[in-house]
Amino acid sequence: MTLSAVRKVALSGFMDAMALVGTKLRNIGPSGAYEVNTAGPISAWAHWCPACAEVHVYNVVREGGRACWGFNGNFEKPSFSPSMLIRWGNKVPGYENNPHFNGEGGICHYFLTDGRISYCGDSTHELSGQTVDLPDWPKDFL
Ligand SMILES: [Zn+2]
Repeated sequence: MTLSAVRKVALSGFMDAMALVGTKLRNIGPSGAYEVNTAGPISAWAHWCPACAEVHVYNVVREGGRACWGFNGNFEKPSFSPSMLIRWGNKVPGYENNPHFNGEGGICHYFLTDGRISYCGDSTHELSGQTVDLPDWPKDFL
């Protein structure tokens, strides 16, 4: 299933598209909301991170100097490359001693390959160093 084929299906109905896109990924629609599909170009794919209990987003269109990832197009066993590295608070370079963060921050660094998340050892959460299945998108999360 190619992305262009998915877009065509999206025009025929939300539920059909959801079946094709699968249960793990969502794209970000024109309104900024998470969707299973849109009729327009898809610029990013989002997934649930079980370590952070929040959504992380892969931009897949190179524009405006933003980071850009490659996607294998497989919705059941997605792979994105290169790795995802998210830092916040005092783990952001240059903010190590910023009093605003009060000594708090974190890192989520992982490879998503063939539907498995391999968290790197520099991650600061409890799944650091572990590999887990990419979970389904939470049913109660919009
Ligand atoms: Zn995370």
